[in-house]
Amino acid sequence: MSKNYQVLARKYRPHSFTELVGQANTKKTLINALDANNLHHAFLFTGTRGVGKTSIARILAKSINCEQGVSSVPCGKCSTCIEIDKGQSIDLIELDAASHTGVDNMRSILENTQYLPSKNRYKIYLIDEVHMLSKSSFNALLKTLEEPPEHVKFLLATTNPQKLPLTILSRCLQFTLQQLTHDEILGQLKFIMDSEALSYEELALSQIADFGKGSMRDALSLLDQSISYGKGIITNADIKAMLGLVHHEDIITLTTHLFNQDAKSVINFIKDLSHRGENLNNALKDLSSLFHKISIAQIVNTKSDRTTKNLSKQISNFDLQIFYQMSINGSKDMAIAPSDQIGFEMTLLRMLAFRSDNPPNTEKKTLKIKSEVKTPVLIEKKEILNINNQQQWETLIISLEFKGNVKMLVENTLFDNVSNTILTLTLDDQFTNLLSNHVQKSILTTLRKKFSTLNLVINLGKPNIQTLAQKKTQAYSKKITKMQTKFLNDEGVQKLEKTFDTKININSIKEIKHV
Ligand SMILES: [Zn+2]
Repeated sequence: MSKNYQVLARKYRPHSFTELVGQANTKKTLINALDANNLHHAFLFTGTRGVGKTSIARILAKSINCEQGVSSVPCGKCSTCIEIDKGQSIDLIELDAASHTGVDNMRSILENTQYLPSKNRYKIYLIDEVHMLSKSSFNALLKTLEEPPEHVKFLLATTNPQKLPLTILSRCLQFTLQQLTHDEILGQLKFIMDSEALSYEELALSQIADFGKGSMRDALSLLDQSISYGKGIITNADIKAMLGLVHHEDIITLTTHLFNQDAKSVINFIKDLSHRGENLNNALKDLSSLFHKISIAQIVNTKSDRTTKNLSKQISNFDLQIFYQMSINGSKDMAIAPSDQIGFEMTLLRMLAFRSDNPPNTEKKTLKIKSEVKTPVLIEKKEILNINNQQQWETLIISLEFKGNVKMLVENTLFDNVSNTILTLTLDDQFTNLLSNHVQKSILTTLRKKFSTLNLVINLGKPNIQTLAQKKTQAYSKKITKMQTKFLNDEGVQKLEKTFDTKININSIKEIKHV
């Protein structure tokens, strides 16, 4: 490899809006504003790392200051465009707020805003990670933003907009950048490999794109590593070794054994994976991803590969949901399992035990009808939670005999729905203080004793109908009123009142609880 190897993220940094991958909405808005020469004085770009915030800001800077005039297509050839590309433009002041948190620094920089640009149309301040400024630095910035000189533009970028004061936010035109999709990243990786005339296996690039998790920069830095690891050739086996990934074919084989309910082969295969030193944590994650892919293939007619399509015909959507849930939970349990192999085995055995259908090797048609008609039952002892209104929820609350805080909380909830084994409730927001992880777990434990795998979502809100707690309070006060009226109407009591020429204070009549 050449001695002057330049990191790919820098070498392939986009120089124009056309070269910039993704962010279609932001691009469109900026291009329209530039072409109409209708420019705000402060722009704020937000989004996670590596999605193109500073790249967009630099392209915008060129568009604003290009010697050929303001437009969405800067010439790229004039001295200003070239200087901006090289990071040498005198009128583009780039600051990383993370290293300029002192107010003195910031103040002295902002004091210079009053001076005209040295050579360009505008003096542009590009402040990255602007949320890192100290409070006093924000004040200094705010002063300039309140009355910005005609010749100044601010381009602010941050991964953390919620840390910005509202006074700053309200003075900026805000753009929220999206994470890049797998295909957007993959496309760029291929483009780079082709431009560099390097060879690669498609699946390897796809795995690098996955690894980027929406960040082009992260994907490109892994691409850099992979190129030097494979001496210019990127193979699936190398990526697998670098990331500790398990062969996709192995995951398919395991899933096939699982869907065939072939417990013996499942266990033997896990043993084999473990002996080969494969990373079982990653294997379980890959399994979750495959379940997700199969689920999508079952519901939407996407262009999935043939293997995924075949697998999708061998299992019901219901079982797939359960398997997915179990694999996710299995990943969490892995850390506390006696060993990775045991954790992995137990997760897969659980899937085998909880499989509701008995499907394999039957004709596709029968299978399909079966999964449509039959309501799958997990294990005989447990029921599927089948309620669909508040009344049924209240009956259930009473029958489950919750205790203490948990009882108080459930009685203040309203039933929303049950969907995909997720029970959704709305908690009267006056009782937010009752809501804790502990209480939620306790509700789930009680529910799961009776019902098959269930999850819980509690939203906050104002009840539009009475909760069980409100009904109970109302019933209680009715009872007390009735008791008070009965007491006051009693002949003896009335005689007493007359004799002593007095009135009994109604609020002093209380129910006495027997100890
Ligand atoms: Zn230019």
